[in-house]
Amino acid sequence: MSSLLVDDIGELVTNDGGGEGGPLGIRRDAALLVEEGRVAWIGPARDAPPADRRLDAGGAAVLPGFVDSHAHLVFAGDRAAEFAARMAGQPYTGGGIRTTVGATRAATDDELRATVRRLRGEALRQGTTTMEIKSGYGLTVADEARSLAIAAEVSDETTFLGAHVVPAEYADRPDDYVGLVCGPMLAAAAPHARWIDVFCERGAFDVDHARAILACGQAVGLGVRLHANQLGPGPGVQLGVELGAASVDHCTHLTDADVDALASTRVDGGHTTTVATLLPGAEFSTRSPYPDARRLLDAGVTVALATDCNPGSSYTSSMPFCVALAVREMRMTPAEAVWAATAGGARALRRDDVGVIRPGARADLMVLDAPSHLHLAYRPGVPLIRQVLRNGVPQ
Ligand SMILES: [Zn+2]
Repeated sequence: MSSLLVDDIGELVTNDGGGEGGPLGIRRDAALLVEEGRVAWIGPARDAPPADRRLDAGGAAVLPGFVDSHAHLVFAGDRAAEFAARMAGQPYTGGGIRTTVGATRAATDDELRATVRRLRGEALRQGTTTMEIKSGYGLTVADEARSLAIAAEVSDETTFLGAHVVPAEYADRPDDYVGLVCGPMLAAAAPHARWIDVFCERGAFDVDHARAILACGQAVGLGVRLHANQLGPGPGVQLGVELGAASVDHCTHLTDADVDALASTRVDGGHTTTVATLLPGAEFSTRSPYPDARRLLDAGVTVALATDCNPGSSYTSSMPFCVALAVREMRMTPAEAVWAATAGGARALRRDDVGVIRPGARADLMVLDAPSHLHLAYRPGVPLIRQVLRNGVPQ
């Protein structure tokens, strides 16, 4: 059994709530021992046990790896021209998804695989050690199944999003498409998926269709998450709470009743069982108003940050970028944003073994080229991730 000691850690962010920094649980002058891919010990550097190998953090900050709980990596083509048009004044409607569907259906497995691996690698170099990946650009039985099979090659957190939009060939008969999603498409997708998701929005799926699809997924053992209240107010957030969703994602347009519904899922540990996952890359890339993170946090709702990496409305794989946006544009404190991008993402995926550094957790962590987590927002756009470990293995 080989052990690895990470020492000379100037600032260790544990997210276990002890130490300083509130929920970040910061420890100074710390060391940690990794054995068999797990954190085996944490303590003062002077008390560090012997180990086979040593990684000297050089006084820098060490954090849990980012947990990106919302990404769409299985697609072909890009939509740079659509982005340019939007920046020149055209509004975002979500209709461009169909452009990507056409390109994705035409792509080979190897082309899709290459894109998934390229983006997963890009995210890893920016500190993302856990990344949820959705289907949703195939929208046929075969294309959704292969999208998820390819996603599952690089992630355990895979999500069936056959209900992303109604594809053009079903435009006149959405009920038939919902039947396809709940029937043969779900049957083909479920073996490769942990979660089911629906884009519940005007122009995509209404609340009755969304409820039916999510219930079918739950019936075969998939966990529920959904895209809700992105483009306007709607019933998605309250549907998510009704169904016990792990997360409702976007949450850009919320009523007081939506916030109350989320807060009502709060349990003894102080967190809400339904997490509000905010995706500021989407508002950035569509030049839209940002979600009101303060309102959610002040109501006691657990907040996660994720990239929404996709070729249309948020083509970034960078969690540090999202942290910086959350601090600058959504008035989250740096500590709140870092927690939301790590432990918050883990809660949105109902994981307690990632997003935290404590004995028994996976040794998924990053060493910054900086003395403090504050630099992730203080130095936006700068590559500050010096070293990433996954399962204790330097990447
Ligand atoms: Zn999305």
